[in-house]
Amino acid sequence: MNIALLLQMAAEAEPHRIGLVCDGRRWSYGALLSAAHGAAAHVVETGATHLALLDESSEAAAIALFGAAFAGVPYVPLNYRLADVDLRALLQRVAPAYVVGDVARVARIASDQGHVTLGRGEFVAAAEARGEDAPKEPREGEGIAAQIFTSGTTAAPKAALLRHANLLSYILGTVEFASASPNEAALVCVPPYHIAGIAALMSSIYAMRRIVLLPAFDPDAWLELAASERVTNAFVVPTMLARIIARIDAGHRPDLSALQAIAYGGGRMPLELIERALELFPHTGFTNAYGLTETSSTIALLGPEDHRAALASGDPAVRARLGSVGKPLPTVEIQIRDENGRVLPPGERGEIYVRGEQVSGEYRERKALDADGWFPTRDAGWLDADGYLFLAGRADDVIVRGGENISPGEIEDVLLGHPAIADAAAVAVPSLEWGEAVGVAIVPRTPQAPPSEDELRTLIRKRLRSSRVPERILVVEALPYNEMGKLLRREVKKLF
Ligand code: ATP
Repeated sequence: MNIALLLQMAAEAEPHRIGLVCDGRRWSYGALLSAAHGAAAHVVETGATHLALLDESSEAAAIALFGAAFAGVPYVPLNYRLADVDLRALLQRVAPAYVVGDVARVARIASDQGHVTLGRGEFVAAAEARGEDAPKEPREGEGIAAQIFTSGTTAAPKAALLRHANLLSYILGTVEFASASPNEAALVCVPPYHIAGIAALMSSIYAMRRIVLLPAFDPDAWLELAASERVTNAFVVPTMLARIIARIDAGHRPDLSALQAIAYGGGRMPLELIERALELFPHTGFTNAYGLTETSSTIALLGPEDHRAALASGDPAVRARLGSVGKPLPTVEIQIRDENGRVLPPGERGEIYVRGEQVSGEYRERKALDADGWFPTRDAGWLDADGYLFLAGRADDVIVRGGENISPGEIEDVLLGHPAIADAAAVAVPSLEWGEAVGVAIVPRTPQAPPSEDELRTLIRKRLRSSRVPERILVVEALPYNEMGKLLRREVKKLF
């Protein structure tokens, strides 16, 4: 079991077919495989225990991912946006590593940790030069393909370990093998340190879909690349989709007729945005993918058929599915449990638990699986009577008002339904009377004319229980999101 197999299979089947395009350079599967062999040989010689990447997306990320697999060491993509002090702490946890990317930064903040450092160009050149003479078989290691520090939305980053077996069972079990068409191309524009970036590289290589890398997101660059490379598949986070649609609505309309499929996920997709996207791209299949780092990415999907059926349906229960993350993958089981571990029936809200071969639930520090292999996601949610999974925010985001649990999502849904509100977040604010109470921050569509506080309180009182009526309301210009489209609730709380 080694993810190196994916690249090996593609290169054996079609050595000359273009597998990756980045910054105008085109890489065949054969060239990528050879570079991965060369990178592995170099890493092994240095005695490094990890292969870390401190860089934007580029061919170096693919070569490093598969190079690490051949070298038998974990691939550790690091978040280059972190502050020096946080990055230094992560580097310490993987020392001594072979670090590809920002050499000057590693020298400045972690020169005492024994790392071997190479710039991107230097790494790629060394890997290519060594390829031919390097060993062709993957080395045995601890069985860990990647060590990913979680984004730390809710707590300090944890070192999630993804074994070759986890990643391969996700890829082999859930991605269709579509090697038939040499014209398929996937536009990948996610940071390499996120599981979605790794999953996109592996699944595209497995499906022999040409990877078109866009290192940094910009809606115009995204649209132009999608048109010029005749992109067929893309993954976006909600904020990216919003910015792409804004450009199209502003009249920027390159030819996207090849675009067959857009998957989205990583954070909550506003209903209105997906409805607009379905309208704008009637011939593109949309998929909502829900997953976590610890589960090797996607565990539940709302596929194109479900999107179409929900949009067309007059039945409110079916229409509501547009706001769900669909059904668990066939290889995965999902349960909803209450705080005492009792499994809840459909319709009841609790914490989402997941079990399956792709679920690692393992950290450097500890294992988070229970005795039966179930992993607590810390996401709140419920299943409807037909098995569709709905998310209701993070378990840690629940507002506990005088002992009553309030999920921010239910309040946000009501606010986002108001025509004058572009975005909204509900968080816990301190309250002398209740311990915690509800605070909401809204972004009005027209900054000069926000809806009044009275109007908003009346709206919520009409639709929800009185405990949901916000104690405090803030009008802001924009809400804070990270680059994966996740709302940073800690930052929202600071606004109060
Ligand atoms: P940390 O655990 O350190 O806080 P993180 O959870 O942000 O980091 P990830 O594993 O990247 O790190 O994020 C997974 C989370 O993203 C899920 O638990 C869920 O809350 C959210 N998420 C993922 N996909 C979707 C989706 N399709 N719709 C809504 N939310 C999603």
